[in-house]
Amino acid sequence: MKALVYTNTLELQYRDEPKPTPVSGEALVQIEAVGICGSDMHAYHGHDARRVPPLILGHEAVGVVQNGLQKGKRVVLNPLITCGHCNHCQGGRSNLCAERELIGMRRAGAFAEYINIPERNLLDIPQDMDSTVASLTEPAATSLHAVYLAEKILHRPLSECRALVLGGGSIGVFAALMLKHKGCKAIYLGDTNALRRETADKLGCATVYDPLGSNLPEAGSFDLVIDAVGSGRTRAASCEMVASGGVISHVGLQDNEPGLDTRRLTLDEITFLGNYTYSVVDLKAAIDLLYSGALGSLNWVDTRPLSDGAAAFGEIHEGKAGSPKIVLRP
Ligand SMILES: [Zn+2]
Ligand SMILES: [Zn+2]
Repeated sequence: MKALVYTNTLELQYRDEPKPTPVSGEALVQIEAVGICGSDMHAYHGHDARRVPPLILGHEAVGVVQNGLQKGKRVVLNPLITCGHCNHCQGGRSNLCAERELIGMRRAGAFAEYINIPERNLLDIPQDMDSTVASLTEPAATSLHAVYLAEKILHRPLSECRALVLGGGSIGVFAALMLKHKGCKAIYLGDTNALRRETADKLGCATVYDPLGSNLPEAGSFDLVIDAVGSGRTRAASCEMVASGGVISHVGLQDNEPGLDTRRLTLDEITFLGNYTYSVVDLKAAIDLLYSGALGSLNWVDTRPLSDGAAAFGEIHEGKAGSPKIVLRP
């Protein structure tokens, strides 16, 4: 089969790889579409010790089951493989399972024609769901989870809150769309990349600004800040922008540099909330939202053949990709 293989820092090769052979308890899935994630970029930059080349990356995928009871069915992959029997798994928080594994990390990912994945990781989708839209399930669920956890802590309903999203990648864009869907009326989105600002502007759901520019929103004015970058700089900006009594929902994983103003967090009763991925229920809710059209047209997604994947990674790396999400098709 053809696959896009991460072979070295800043290097991907589109080449022949052995097709996975069916394993008991696992489904062989023919991939229809698979999105490039910020974490794939992190690996590509050689910054992820967990992703060691040569490796097939990719975990935001939809495809057709080739064997077993679900043969012929179109499914979205839940990329988080968990033990299924610890307290977190059984309590509905499988994202916190100590034994969790992600496809495209230690085992092969979905930038390929085929993948093997445990049968319990297959998620039902409406069979007429567009494959590009379905491939957005995982990033949409990540944003949904971040908004959902923050919503439980906010002192006022989201519809009455002012919200700021830092980062106009797909997680930031989906966070803004989720906030709008939930009735939030004052949404701001900051990104330093002009192409991404242009795309975010067209969504029509947020006031878009350049955090390095001069026209900044008022400091201390946001009940909720969602940090979809996760760098020292965005943590510092979050602490500056959040209102007293507000919530910082931290979902990005760019670096681990200092930036948090813990004195302000304490004196102003600001909640700093970490978010990691999604529950299975979040994934199902994301499929429903995407399929129903509740998040708008999604025409900002860029689709390319898998054979052009290396060029797509290069474009994102150079900051030349205007779309916050590029989806590859084998
Ligand atoms: Zn992802
Ligand atoms: Zn578990």
